[in-house]
Amino acid sequence: EHVTAADAGADDRAVEAALRPRTLDEVIGQTRVREQLGLVLEAARQRGRTSDHVLLSGPPGLGKTTLAMIISAEMGAPLRITSGPAITHAGDLASILSGLNEGDVLFVDEIHRMSRPAEEMLYLAMEDFRVDVVIGKGPGATSIPLELPPFTLVGATTRAGLLPGPLRDRFGFTAHLEFYEADELELIVRRSAGLLDVAFTDGGAAEIASRSRGTPRIANRLLRRVRDFSQVRADGVVTHEIASQALDLYEVDPLGLDRLDRGVLDALVRRFGGGPVGISTLAVAVGEERETVEEVAEPFLVRNGFLARTPRGRVATPAAWRHLGLTPPAGVGA
Ligand code: ADP
Repeated sequence: EHVTAADAGADDRAVEAALRPRTLDEVIGQTRVREQLGLVLEAARQRGRTSDHVLLSGPPGLGKTTLAMIISAEMGAPLRITSGPAITHAGDLASILSGLNEGDVLFVDEIHRMSRPAEEMLYLAMEDFRVDVVIGKGPGATSIPLELPPFTLVGATTRAGLLPGPLRDRFGFTAHLEFYEADELELIVRRSAGLLDVAFTDGGAAEIASRSRGTPRIANRLLRRVRDFSQVRADGVVTHEIASQALDLYEVDPLGLDRLDRGVLDALVRRFGGGPVGISTLAVAVGEERETVEEVAEPFLVRNGFLARTPRGRVATPAAWRHLGLTPPAGVGA
């Protein structure tokens, strides 16, 4: 709390926390989500009730955790944070839920990774503010109903489609976060540069924004790497030229594709002739988990027209071939 962005120093996690917007008004971009969520919260406040449960979906780094923190701040309610992978047994969830106080905001990151029994417990908790705690095992087991105080669940997931329908349906408000436009990212870079005390020119901020892969977390990270570069190799001012040299050094290409993005395109084009190829095969070829390729690399590649999902598998578009400096074979994208 007392760490300012400028003195958080080399600790990237501390810097990231210090750069988070604290109110809905400070959030840049996501105009529609901001307005919709603002209404949900304001209405709940006026009625003196806890807010409906909120589901936030979208690729990593677009602001899901930030929004969860803002919901808790705007409701003046404490935030509890956990994640799907941390909830392996229904009992883990039961103990978190039974520790909640009225009005608390419970943030469950990667909610699609919760175990099935925990999911089922969560349905009931969300709808009736009740859990059934099972005591004992086998035929002698009994279940004891436990009343919960009203709370707000904020779930985050990379893709809402990964959640079972019954869980999805229990959220009163669902928002999908989209990749940010370059002008929005530029505002984010300027704001962060101000907080970090980094001197920059308009061209410098724009160059970082345009290579940030539509993602605020990446924009903030690239800003820090460019700041290092400008401090060590130049006079400390982030200009267009300095940003572009630094980002070349860090292997972020002019369209913002990083090593994983390029690795996926490279495998697709050079090893599989442009596809179609199944996502699992593609993931093995780049040495990554299927989920990472599907939830981190793919949304950006699809959104920017480099990759298409077809019923027979993933296909490289002509733009992908050209981006790798190759000529698309006749027939591709025709
Ligand atoms: P997610 O939970 O979706 O992975 P986060 O909420 O952790 O993403 O956001 C990553 C970083 O990006 C945060 O440190 C925050 O500073 C920044 N950020 C995200 N969204 C915005 C936004 N709309 N405006 C300004 N900064 C943002």
